[in-house]
Amino acid sequence: MKTKKPLGQLKLAVPSQEKPVTDYLTASGTFQDGDLLLNRQGMRLISEESSSQTPDVKDMELQFTMEDFEIVKVIGKGSGGVVQLVRHKFLGTLFALKGIQMNIQETVRKQIVQEIKINQASLCPHVVVCYHSFYHNGFISLVLEYMDRGSLADIIRQVKTVLEPYLAVLCKQVLNGLVYLHHERRVIHRDIKPSNLLVNHKGEVKISDFGVSAMLASSMGQRDTFVGTYNYMAPERISGGSYDFKSDIWSLGLVILECAIGSFPYRQTENEEGPLSFYELLESIVEEPPPSAPSDQFSPEFCSFISSCIQKDPQQRMSSLELLNHPFIKKFEDKDIDLGILVSSLDPPINFE
Ligand code: ATP
Ligand code: MG
Repeated sequence: MKTKKPLGQLKLAVPSQEKPVTDYLTASGTFQDGDLLLNRQGMRLISEESSSQTPDVKDMELQFTMEDFEIVKVIGKGSGGVVQLVRHKFLGTLFALKGIQMNIQETVRKQIVQEIKINQASLCPHVVVCYHSFYHNGFISLVLEYMDRGSLADIIRQVKTVLEPYLAVLCKQVLNGLVYLHHERRVIHRDIKPSNLLVNHKGEVKISDFGVSAMLASSMGQRDTFVGTYNYMAPERISGGSYDFKSDIWSLGLVILECAIGSFPYRQTENEEGPLSFYELLESIVEEPPPSAPSDQFSPEFCSFISSCIQKDPQQRMSSLELLNHPFIKKFEDKDIDLGILVSSLDPPINFE
């Protein structure tokens, strides 16, 4: 929780006359000079120490409107809509703007926006920050932290397989995000998959779209309907049973195994082609033994990690907290492995323009 600064510490300064006053104004009528932010909601001191020209966005309670942003390019497309790279005209900061079509009543929409705001007011460095949300012309737009190296889906499209040391480093970060969601916020993500694990040039990995699958389901008229891929769904969930935090662990295990072997672990038998239909997938997930890492290609620690995640009985699956202490994660902890080097050696994410 951000603590309010005592009023006594406010320093008012007249802006320098060398710069026209309009330079301090954003399209929403927000005025800012140094640490002073002034708009229709009132005046606020945003940072006591910071006097930099580009204020740290984390430090601010941002008051955005759509007019404050200029579109740079389209960076992705999902089932709910388009993701654009945008620049804040005043701050110069880049954000990802995700638009989601919503055909729902005003009251439900307000409730969802409220939920998104609460859910995504994240204090965890491994969950993508949602700074703001707008509703405009049937679209909800989310102003998200921009992750400049795209998603894990983009990475595995290029490298085909990811080596164990990198997987351990990547997985540790995702587990830290899951520990925050599961143990601190007491919520299930519900849609862990490669395209929702985002990466930046520093090699930071963050979980995105937390709360978004619930929002899309609402827009389809039913809170419990799932919108998206069923590929990573745990057996208890795809078969319509009750599920908990452990369903995210199943999904994580499948994602990590996919990165290691270079293909989605559930696939057609040799003489059939194409992806599995929903019913084939359902049958494989529910009826067949769970996929595992081949022990002749991977370390015992990795094989054990995968089988600690991909257990059909959720009670047999480890929790995110337990997995953080798994020998596979521990093995590479002090090896100084830089995921930033891997991502910067790849082509930038696909430009949809
Ligand atoms: P689905 O909509 O089926 O869940 P998805 O996760 O790929 O699929 P989106 O969440 O709309 O769909 O994202 C589309 C793509 O946009 C992602 O794969 C990613 O490459 C890019 N993207 C999304 N959010 C961000 C972000 N915050 N920063 C950078 N790129 C992003
Ligand atoms: Mg997504």
